[in-house]
Amino acid sequence: MTDTMRPSAATGVVGRLAEIHPRLEALYKDLHAHPELSFAETRTAGVVAEELEGLGFEVTTGVGRTGVVGVLANGAGPRVLLRADFDALPVKEQTGLDYASTVTATGPDGDEVPVMHACGHDMHVACLIGALDLLAGARDSWSGTIVAVFQPAEEVGSGAQAMVDDGLFDKVGPPDVVLGQHVAPVPTGMIACHPGAAMAATDALRVRMFGRSAHGSRPEAAIDPVVMAAATVMRLQTVVSREIAGGDTAVVTVGALNAGTKDNVIPDEAELKLNIRTYTPEVRATVLGAVSRIVNAEAEAAGAERTPEITPLDTFPVLVNDPAAVKRTTGALRAHFGEDAVVDGGPATGSEDCGVLATASGAPICYWYFGGTDPAAFETAVKNGTAGRDIPSNHSPFFAPLINPTLDIGVQAMTVAALAWLDTR
Ligand code: ZN
Ligand code: ZN
Repeated sequence: MTDTMRPSAATGVVGRLAEIHPRLEALYKDLHAHPELSFAETRTAGVVAEELEGLGFEVTTGVGRTGVVGVLANGAGPRVLLRADFDALPVKEQTGLDYASTVTATGPDGDEVPVMHACGHDMHVACLIGALDLLAGARDSWSGTIVAVFQPAEEVGSGAQAMVDDGLFDKVGPPDVVLGQHVAPVPTGMIACHPGAAMAATDALRVRMFGRSAHGSRPEAAIDPVVMAAATVMRLQTVVSREIAGGDTAVVTVGALNAGTKDNVIPDEAELKLNIRTYTPEVRATVLGAVSRIVNAEAEAAGAERTPEITPLDTFPVLVNDPAAVKRTTGALRAHFGEDAVVDGGPATGSEDCGVLATASGAPICYWYFGGTDPAAFETAVKNGTAGRDIPSNHSPFFAPLINPTLDIGVQAMTVAALAWLDTR
């Protein structure tokens, strides 16, 4: 607790935070220095399992390949599922921190890639372990069952589903609520939660467009896939601007465009990788239909002799926060952190597979963001209109949540949210 925070029912439970903080900070730095790619989180899973055992949880490992589940049954009462994701990204860390990652690993394509906790999932783990420590140490002040889910492979959108498919809810029973949180590039101390469709659905696609190779001096002998791909990229920009209603939201990004090897060789194919964000099934269907139509029509316009291939890569469903669950959870967060600390930041175009745990078990979900950026730096950047450039966001090689007070706030938020659902005495 800092002296700016108001007393609440959870005040007693979080009283031990200062005592456990050094251990949590060391845990966070250790996880940050040892990031692991999606479904390769074996060391992380081992660290988490050991922590859970130390706190008296019943632990199951290997759920959905590398997932870890800890259960603490403490008498009659609600079953509350608390979730942290724990995978990292193929990003080369450039923060310059003394606990920065220098790790490399073999990526899914077989190439050696740098690995970094560039999305803050190490923070999520440290915060959840901290909350579990506080709750386990205050068992006489609540009753019910805590189900702690440490989920692999959020970044590829399949970790939550893998745990469900591996019988997560057969093992631990369906929860009464699913609670999760994500560190975000907003000022520390700020918590943001939006009822309803809170995070977008994602569809990632690989598109291969086929031409005919020839010498760079002889365009008449070629069907040029570079020009075909370039025209496609430009035309795809009209999907959102010309086919989606002004009141609806969608994003279409071409994040990768690869073709050719040399200036004087017209290649025989080009590859595009698309990332699409939507909030409703209707808008999603419109965008996917338009992408397919444009890709095929541009190939035809170029005289391609082979139909393009469109292959789905990762997909995430839309995350829909239950309005009643948001009201109950944010009410407790406001009582603890103060009325102004919790805002409705509106829907985010980011995606999350945490919602899968809720839809698969029939439980309501409340998922919120907590700030990890130095408030003074944030204020200066906003004043100068340079927040987009100066405040590193998730997935940036410079993403570095300010440990203090972000860690303590995340621990408290998860603890307070859990207590809002457990029976308290
Ligand atoms: Zn991420
Ligand atoms: Zn993330």
